[in-house]
Amino acid sequence: MTQTSERIQKINRLKSDVYREYGFYYYVPMAEAYTVQVPVTVGCSYDKCLFCYLNQGRKFRELTLDEISGHVENLRVINEGRNSKRFLLAGGNPFVLSTEKLLKISEVIRSKFPECEYISAFSRADDITRKTPAELRSLHEAGYDRLCIGIESGSDEVLAFQNKGVTRSMNLQAMKMLDDAGMSYSVYIMLGLGGHDMSDSHVNETASLLNMSKPFELTVVTLVIFKGAGLIERIKSHEFRRMHPLDAFKEGRKLLSLLEIPTIWDATHKTNIYPLKGRIPEHKEKLLGRIDDVIAEIESTNLKQYELKRWRKWGTE
Ligand code: SF4
Repeated sequence: MTQTSERIQKINRLKSDVYREYGFYYYVPMAEAYTVQVPVTVGCSYDKCLFCYLNQGRKFRELTLDEISGHVENLRVINEGRNSKRFLLAGGNPFVLSTEKLLKISEVIRSKFPECEYISAFSRADDITRKTPAELRSLHEAGYDRLCIGIESGSDEVLAFQNKGVTRSMNLQAMKMLDDAGMSYSVYIMLGLGGHDMSDSHVNETASLLNMSKPFELTVVTLVIFKGAGLIERIKSHEFRRMHPLDAFKEGRKLLSLLEIPTIWDATHKTNIYPLKGRIPEHKEKLLGRIDDVIAEIESTNLKQYELKRWRKWGTE
């Protein structure tokens, strides 16, 4: 065996050890795909959103500092010779950890990766609002930045229906607290989350919430129904009338047309029927024009059926 293949085997062994607790859907924020991902939590401390099955029944677990240090040492070996500047804490909402623990994790990462420029993490709004302004500032000083918040919707009606466990005003407060602490953030928005019946409130309230905030990027995804998601029962009982993916795409057009903040519109996630990405306001008109072209194309051909079939592969039907 050559030295190169021995090294590849060693790295593969280390990687499977580092990420062994994270199953098939190991999900990271779109904006932080190219980061060194540090295991600190497994699953989500909340895990009650009706539409979500990312945690696949895995029980929430905080890794101990010893476990985290061991993983960071292995990550240094895996990334040997690389200038690794961008880090992400892995898990559904690692920012739920105490400020004290997050600060210790930052020390551990920086001791092995002095070149680290920032540490990102998925966060729920209440993980942020539970911290004091002084704590958030100290976390920012320790390198925490580019957090990713799953806002999903600006509508209280939709958030309550989907059992998101936070309100529009909590989401707004969390974003304001990050602004005040100097921390940047991207947010997830989910098209179709209000189904047919709450679509107007979903789009209008999401636009008005976003227009009061400063996310550097919007990750726009479309609702898909995963096997195991609580929303399935609400669909079966007709309490939730899901949207055709083309209607969700039209929802995206309306949302984009209402946005007035400078940000990045990233709708390249594969749950969307057509990938689009651009800057607002610079590319807004071009993006809207492209959406119109795609809608016209789908409506005038048999693409409608094709797209529906492709989309259903994500779902339960
Ligand atoms: S959407 Fe986010 S907060 Fe809700 S259960 Fe899933 S991981 Fe947890």
